[in-house]
Amino acid sequence: MRILLQFPEGLKQKALEYAKKYEQEGNEVFVSSSPSFGACDLAIDEAKAIGAEKIVHFGHAEFKRVDFNVEYVPYYIDAPLEILNNSLELLKPYSKIGLVTTIQHVNQLDKIKEFYEQSGKAVIIGKPYGFAKVRGQILGCDVGSAATIDKQVDAFVYFGGGMFHPLGALLATTKPFLVVEPFANSIEFIDKYRDIYRKKSNGKLLAALNAKNFGILVSTKNGQYNMSFAKIIKSKLEGSGFYGIILVSNTIDFEALNNMLEIDAFVNTACPRIAIDDQGRTRKPILSADELIRLIEMKKELSGRE
Ligand code: SF4
Repeated sequence: MRILLQFPEGLKQKALEYAKKYEQEGNEVFVSSSPSFGACDLAIDEAKAIGAEKIVHFGHAEFKRVDFNVEYVPYYIDAPLEILNNSLELLKPYSKIGLVTTIQHVNQLDKIKEFYEQSGKAVIIGKPYGFAKVRGQILGCDVGSAATIDKQVDAFVYFGGGMFHPLGALLATTKPFLVVEPFANSIEFIDKYRDIYRKKSNGKLLAALNAKNFGILVSTKNGQYNMSFAKIIKSKLEGSGFYGIILVSNTIDFEALNNMLEIDAFVNTACPRIAIDDQGRTRKPILSADELIRLIEMKKELSGRE
């Protein structure tokens, strides 16, 4: 079978190893060298262009059903759990803990739960909204496993690497949030970022206060494409006296956006993390849809005072 292998950036180092394995099984193998941001970003156009019958997508679970033959190969990592002992002192004031992680460690959640329960804690594992598929799993765009249990817990524990995933969950919750990072061997409450990101959001609104022309970002990636939402935003903008133009691309290229000098601000409909994490990569602010609504209300309020 002709197949296209697709790896997220962290797993591209394993591309040859897997290519050889699939070749030995009798397949004609190609590897996508495009960036891959998640299971929202399947290389369907590339697969069709080379006549592949299947994409083998590594490192992520299914995100959204697509009209193409895709095999998902999640990549589980058994991280050392000894670090959990060091989190107990910090978690002393909290008796009910919400536990979240990424797809790489969902296989370890039961053991982690058992550890905290044996240490006298009640542990709650929430359900994702739908893009993530496994209890306790969070994605940058699906933090349901944390947000839906915010009222039931005293604190959250995220087990895993990096700040991308816990940051999204932090911003959607209100309780103390501990990041336990087994590879860097670090344990840290990250609550200060709630305030930092609230201030950043307010800064974007101030920067967009005099905006008249808005670029509405649409990505053609299978799991990010949302043209109907972009059209709703366009009519909302135009109904409020602004101009909105829909900008279409596969991967958002911030340099290209910077060349669009007539645009005063952008509104994001693609990966929701773009309006949070990529602020600063464009000269003009990138607003989420919620921030746009706040901006329109602020402007109405200000014009009423004049
Ligand atoms: S956070 Fe963004 S890049 Fe990650 S899966 Fe969701 S839409 Fe894709």
